[in-house]
Amino acid sequence: MNEFEAIARFFSRPPRAASVHRGVGDDAALLAPSPGCELAVSVDMLVAGRHFLADVDPEKLGHKTLAVNLSDLAAMGATPRWALLAGALPELDANWLGAFARGFYALADRHDVDLVGGDTTRGPLNLCVTILGEVPTGLALARAGAKPGDDVYVSGVLGDAALALAAIAGRVALDSDALGAAREKLEVPEPRIALGIALRGVASAAIDVSDGLTGDLGHILEQSAVGAEIDLTAVPRSRALARSLAAAERSIALDCLLGGGDDYELCFTAPREAAARVAQIAVATGVALTRIGTVTAAPGLTVRDERGVPLPALPKAFDHFA
Ligand code: ADP
Ligand code: MG
Repeated sequence: MNEFEAIARFFSRPPRAASVHRGVGDDAALLAPSPGCELAVSVDMLVAGRHFLADVDPEKLGHKTLAVNLSDLAAMGATPRWALLAGALPELDANWLGAFARGFYALADRHDVDLVGGDTTRGPLNLCVTILGEVPTGLALARAGAKPGDDVYVSGVLGDAALALAAIAGRVALDSDALGAAREKLEVPEPRIALGIALRGVASAAIDVSDGLTGDLGHILEQSAVGAEIDLTAVPRSRALARSLAAAERSIALDCLLGGGDDYELCFTAPREAAARVAQIAVATGVALTRIGTVTAAPGLTVRDERGVPLPALPKAFDHFA
């Protein structure tokens, strides 16, 4: 199988949306954006050994490669439409490519995203998706916009992806059911697209939690020129993480909850008057939304522990070069 056969066999499914005037097969895709919308564009790269375990199930990797990009659009309140996939592959293995494409297209189909182009080359395993979406002009969510007095919310539960990694590394003990569940969160994250769209006009600021709560919330605070007080007991967690938090491995569990990457939940702020609306959105989207604290005029992030005492140090956003 050569490069062109691989593209034809695995990545050339005909586009479904009428907005794709030309998809895979030409030198560029031709897309017809909707009038009245802004384009939301983002790119994310996944490198073997750095962002995923080399032996990961390729179908799950196909899912995650697209999911992390969809999550960025969710944080902007954008509707995903089109994707480009660039891959460096050590070899063209039909079984691997078939499984990867299955995972990728299954998630793409659920969100009506068309794969409209890409690039395929030999090299150390590395996958890069460019995602394009749309949002009605002026309605995109952003990191700037949080105001003193706003509530701080997160979706779902935090820390399980990092807990799975810690368990795989032998740093925490999880029973096999708990490990299986945490590993699903790590390998098959669910991008919060419907939530992001529902938060248009409701959230004052938003970000997806890809690098850990305190680091990512820190980006909102910095860009909004505000601070926040967070109540540790309110930060939503799985039963497995709660158990680790109450055990000898507390400091590792705390790091997972506040600093763990790869959760792909949304963290957002909203004015107090929007609380009822946020509760309705949780019901409508079927995603748990938890208020974890308050935005303050004073800069800086304070997390108060179970006794109300500020934690002395907080995990920073993950930095590949730190
Ligand atoms: P060019 O040399 O002009 O860049 P390529 O030969 O690299 O074109 O790619 C041929 C076509 O296949 C292009 O339309 C490109 O967008 C598409 N393509 C290449 N690799 C992928 C991929 N991994 N997924 C989706 N489309 C791809
Ligand atoms: Mg090319």
